[in-house]
Amino acid sequence: MPSLLTTRFAPSPTGLLHLGHAYAALTAWTRAQDAGGRFLLRIEDIDPARCRPEYTAALLEDLAALGLVWDGARRQSEQGADYQAALNQLRGLGLLYPCFCTRAAIALTAPHGAEPASYPGTCRARSAPERQERMAAGQAHAWRLDLAAAMRRVSGLTFHEEGQGWMHATPDVFGDVVLARKDAPFSYHLCATHDDALQGVTLVTRGEDLLPATSVHRLLQALLDWPTPRYAHHRLVRDESGRRLAKRDRAMSLRVLRQQGLSTAGLHALLERRGLPLR
Ligand code: GLU
Repeated sequence: MPSLLTTRFAPSPTGLLHLGHAYAALTAWTRAQDAGGRFLLRIEDIDPARCRPEYTAALLEDLAALGLVWDGARRQSEQGADYQAALNQLRGLGLLYPCFCTRAAIALTAPHGAEPASYPGTCRARSAPERQERMAAGQAHAWRLDLAAAMRRVSGLTFHEEGQGWMHATPDVFGDVVLARKDAPFSYHLCATHDDALQGVTLVTRGEDLLPATSVHRLLQALLDWPTPRYAHHRLVRDESGRRLAKRDRAMSLRVLRQQGLSTAGLHALLERRGLPLR
């Protein structure tokens, strides 16, 4: 029996949700509704420096005001043991190494980083004794995936992107990606991919800015024997000057739009006028 179509909305509580989040949430919700499937909520609050509980409370309120009901919710900040187990598995395969480079030298792992920066591999070359010594001395370090070693374990990685068909995964664009950070225990790539597998997500809908990251996720799925969902990356809501909305654009926050009297039907119409219909 085919598994129930399962979608999710996975906001990071780093600010108030805006029109772009509404589009993402409604897209996931609509796809699940149309298929008689499940819609899940996932709070991606793994980065303690950027996430705040008041934004989690605000987003729950905003989603409820949109009329969304979820079949399950998961808070990443409470699931550290799961992510640690995944990291341990990768470490057991010999695919991780500690990276002691300063922040400036480290590629940021925020999911929406415009250009994935490639790491020159300085710490990959360190000997095991040197690594041990530095760690024993308490030197702060991140954990990176040894991409070349990882790629030797897999072949022909593809994923299905709606409207495009089967695409080749090209995780090499990201180089030795950081999976555990100094300042936040686990990276977006690890947590999101882990949770999509654990939660039985079968269709990942999210903004098109995350299409490149899907290659890294596909690699993690292959390495850790996780299932591969289908993907449907959607267009982003942009402001008048063509820039994608950011959480600092308060005028487009769902809270402000609601206070101005915008109903859910009005919001659907607004999205439609911007060329972003839900069906
Ligand atoms: N947490 C990410 C964000 O707020 C979304 C990640 C995803 O959908 O995979 O943009």
